[in-house]
Amino acid sequence: MTEKSVIVVGGGIAGLTASALLAYEGNEVILLEAHTQTGGCAGTFSRGPYVFDVGATQVAGLENGGIHDRIFRHLNCSKPDAEVLDPACTVYLGDGQEPIHLWHDPLKWEVERNKHFPGSERFWTLCNQLHRSNWSFAGSDPILPIQNFWDFKQFLNSTRSMNLLTGIFSMSSIADLLWLCSCHHDLRLRKFLDCQLKLYSQGPSDQTAALYGATVLQMAQAPLGLWHLQGSMQKLSDQLLSCFLRDGGTLLLNHKVVGLFKTNNAWELEVTAQKKLPLNFRAKSVVFTLPPQSLLELMPNTCSGLPKDYRNRLEKLSQPSGAIVFFGAIIRSHLPLHCSGHLQLLVEEIGSMFTSISFEGDGRAPIGQATVIASIFTDVTSWSTYTPAEYRRHKNMILEKILKALNAQFAIESNQWLHKELATPRSFARWTGRPQGIVGGLGQTPTTFGPFGLPSRTPMKGLWLCGDSIYPGEGTAGVTQSAVMACRQLMSEDGKELNLTK
Ligand SMILES: Cc1cc2nc3c(=O)[nH]c(=O)nc-3n(C[C@H](O)[C@H](O)[C@H](O)COP(=O)(O)OP(=O)(O)OC[C@H]3O[C@@H](n4cnc5c(N)ncnc54)[C@H](O)[C@@H]3O)c2cc1C
Repeated sequence: MTEKSVIVVGGGIAGLTASALLAYEGNEVILLEAHTQTGGCAGTFSRGPYVFDVGATQVAGLENGGIHDRIFRHLNCSKPDAEVLDPACTVYLGDGQEPIHLWHDPLKWEVERNKHFPGSERFWTLCNQLHRSNWSFAGSDPILPIQNFWDFKQFLNSTRSMNLLTGIFSMSSIADLLWLCSCHHDLRLRKFLDCQLKLYSQGPSDQTAALYGATVLQMAQAPLGLWHLQGSMQKLSDQLLSCFLRDGGTLLLNHKVVGLFKTNNAWELEVTAQKKLPLNFRAKSVVFTLPPQSLLELMPNTCSGLPKDYRNRLEKLSQPSGAIVFFGAIIRSHLPLHCSGHLQLLVEEIGSMFTSISFEGDGRAPIGQATVIASIFTDVTSWSTYTPAEYRRHKNMILEKILKALNAQFAIESNQWLHKELATPRSFARWTGRPQGIVGGLGQTPTTFGPFGLPSRTPMKGLWLCGDSIYPGEGTAGVTQSAVMACRQLMSEDGKELNLTK
């Protein structure tokens, strides 16, 4: 049995960030990762000459002052090479009209949105004002939801940067803002917003918290931006991992946590490591980065220390969605010239399909070829119940639909694909260990966002949560912010402060 001061469970971006920060601050840290590599939903895999990003294909927060930038500066480490996306995305609404380009330059974006959505400027101005207030609030590393006096004190410090608007619109949705600005009759605008918001909040505009949505809608423009990593998405994990190892952290790959128990003053973790007998680890604190629903299985009874009311709360969490992802490769010249790297296509049969195309020389495909990744949302429940034959049938059916949509969009023939395969929620469950392959956290409705969400501080002393179910939510930038919050809380228990470089 090994005893270390902190054990971090899961080596996705949340776990790597928490591990690197805690090791840098002098804590003794073990990171337990079930897979043979780190990265989780922001990792990569190879097929022959191709490198595919498993889930995340673009990154927010790499600009100066963004959360990834602050983490790397704090850790005295350079950022991974990346270029800002311009346009960040090109959105085809499937209505035969011209696509909408999310330009990086705010003025160019203003011209673009006025062209597509005349008369909507009041809405965008309100979003901008809300976003500015949100952003300075988020930049002060707030603690949300508040669970004790220490959390409250940190929250108060952060509220200095808020303004009245944040309070007024804290219970509103993006659809409320549309109504308030008399833009609710513009159905094309509504369709565009529903499409874009679903990528981040899991819901359309009437289910997306105004404070969250307002920021998401400004993420592509300067001074923020969405970034394309040179090499692959794995570079973000690699850089965090190198800091963690440099600062004395221990990474154990192929170590899957299968049980979690609270004893008097420590946590015990039961771990299976490939081809070896089960191991037991002991730690004073545990940072748990898996979806919180996983605790139901890892702490199956009250003897393991999971209080009954907390179990009830976890059991009642809303069911997040799953993803189906197509991974393909093609000769670049078969794609339209000047094709945007990221597209969102609204397709009649399958809904919103987010498509990412590798850049020439970006490390994902040989020169003259491109990888194409296309993802759609799905409900995970049915996928977990299919018999093998049903599973194969549904998988083939969806693959055909996705190919049909891509072939039509890019005017290509089916036989021009050099590689094609499909990942379903079952694949995500296998790759990332997420229950039923759920991805993307708990959603960002007015009643689940921020102060109303699941706290990183649990009722079990020494157990901290972070990842995409915790404030501020999904995305590599969101889970990084949640890791900072959990680390600050954990260190404050030992009377230490973690102040991230601004
Ligand atoms: C299809 C798709 C597209 C996306 N696109 C984007 C995008 O473009 N940009 C963006 O910012 N975000 C995107 N996201 C979201 C983003 O990838 C996630 O929010 C983020 O990577 C989650 O990080 P995490 O560390 O919280 O969890 P995870 O990445 O799930 O990491 C959890 C880790 O825990 C490990 N693990 C699981 N069970 C155990 C166990 N029992 N013991 C030990 N280890 C275990 C897993 O192997 C994994 O490495 C996308 C997600 C998906 C699925």
